[in-house]
Amino acid sequence: MTLKAQPKASHFIDGEYVEDEAGSVIESIYPATGEVIARLHAATPAIVEKAIAAAKRAQPEWAAMSPTARGRILKRAAEIMRERNRELSELETLDTGKPIQETIVADATSGADSFEFFGGIAAAGLNGSYIPLGGDFAYTKRVPLGVCVGIGAWNYPQQIACWKGAPALAAGNAMVFKPSENTPLGALAIAEILHEAGLPKGLYNVIQGDRETGPLLVNHADVAKVSLTGSVPTGRKVAAAAAGSLKHVTMELGGKSPLVVFDDADIDSAVGGAMLGNFYSTGQVCSNGTRVFVQRKIKAEFLKRLKARTEAILIGDPMDEATQLGPMVSWAQRDKVLSYVEKGKAEGATLVTGGGIPNNVSGEGYYVQPTVFADVTDDMTIAREEIFGPVMCVLDFDDEAEVIARGNATEFGLSAGVFTADLTRAHRVVDQLEAGTLWINTYNLCPVEIPFGGLKQSGFGRENSLAALEHYSELKTVYVGMGKVEAPY
Ligand code: NAD
Repeated sequence: MTLKAQPKASHFIDGEYVEDEAGSVIESIYPATGEVIARLHAATPAIVEKAIAAAKRAQPEWAAMSPTARGRILKRAAEIMRERNRELSELETLDTGKPIQETIVADATSGADSFEFFGGIAAAGLNGSYIPLGGDFAYTKRVPLGVCVGIGAWNYPQQIACWKGAPALAAGNAMVFKPSENTPLGALAIAEILHEAGLPKGLYNVIQGDRETGPLLVNHADVAKVSLTGSVPTGRKVAAAAAGSLKHVTMELGGKSPLVVFDDADIDSAVGGAMLGNFYSTGQVCSNGTRVFVQRKIKAEFLKRLKARTEAILIGDPMDEATQLGPMVSWAQRDKVLSYVEKGKAEGATLVTGGGIPNNVSGEGYYVQPTVFADVTDDMTIAREEIFGPVMCVLDFDDEAEVIARGNATEFGLSAGVFTADLTRAHRVVDQLEAGTLWINTYNLCPVEIPFGGLKQSGFGRENSLAALEHYSELKTVYVGMGKVEAPY
């Protein structure tokens, strides 16, 4: 099959596709075959200026519209996304290599939920308050920040473009979004749909680029906020650059999250949760529960069921609806994951299953077998560093206090999970685990209604829910004097 996904041009600015061939070439590669499916250009400084100028010009009029009118456009965009779910899902699969079985239910649909949710709450979520002060009073109002920049990672290109765009636009801001250079396609489709839904031009712009382009956006004087989804090292750089001009920042960064399975848990649910939390999207999910702590009494049974179910995973052509696991996003990421597998073996972990390249797929694709290590100890590299691939580490533990201390012994704090039949213990444990998003008896579910984001080095700020609106707006307070001014001089 010859795959083509060439967009009309590299960038979408001020309501239309724009090209500037002076920018360095970005090749979009289909990870399942290694084929180049599109060639785009990174934004030149002139393109960056054009996008920010368009956003700056369009934003005041958008902010002056009623929130209901803004919301109506976002809700229309949600409808169009749902109507085109198949097409968008195929594009997402081409962009990322994730199986269509996943993209059809988890990507454009999640983006549509975001436009629907923020479209719906725009009218009620931005209200201020009235503060009585005796005769005088004060009131507060939520105002937009202005031009917001979104910078995306490559694991959920369409979802990230929507999770940042929807609350930003609902709150009356304009956005310039830069997708990851590994997955440049999805965000352009989102920009097109928003404009088809009636979004005035200039409010949602997409420019391509890499780590050289990002700083041009982050350092720009006309940008009020930067929301990054990426790794911790990139987060440190972006936050430091944004601090130079005191920009608002949201940082959605990496993790090494603990998933704790007590011996009274429903083992099949716990195995299923651990598999979803390690193999979904070929393990390229920031909130994955990559340190699976299993209470010693059920270790053998847990590993037996986990091994059998992992070995039954269907790996293959991501466009085949039966395929459950696709390739990594890039050759570099595949090599990185395989090098962690080697470290795991060298440092003494027991390889339960996987660890290599599946033999039923094209050698040109970036595939890695779903891999389980047991007898992992806290000091091993694979237990400390984010691998961002389908590699699960199973660690043993004996008691509750011990597992809480070990679960928290990491610089990250994105997520955590607990499987147990004892509800009191479940709440006691999640209360003590240091993470921004936690699950009891399930894992990795992130509907738009709930806040998502990390503690510690995993970042700050929250996406989704009413909380995201707060991160795309600021508070103005107005004190109203109702009497004569009594001055002592
Ligand atoms: P990355 O940090 O390499 O890149 C992220 C984005 O930042 C890319 O668009 C990149 O071009 C840009 N960038 C790189 N250097 C920059 C700089 N100096 N200034 C501005 N922009 C710059 O991350 P990645 O490899 O694309 O994604 C994987 C990482 O993202 C993992 O660590 C993962 O955990 C994290 N992630 C976090 C979440 C979350 O919501 N917490 C979600 C998905 C992925």
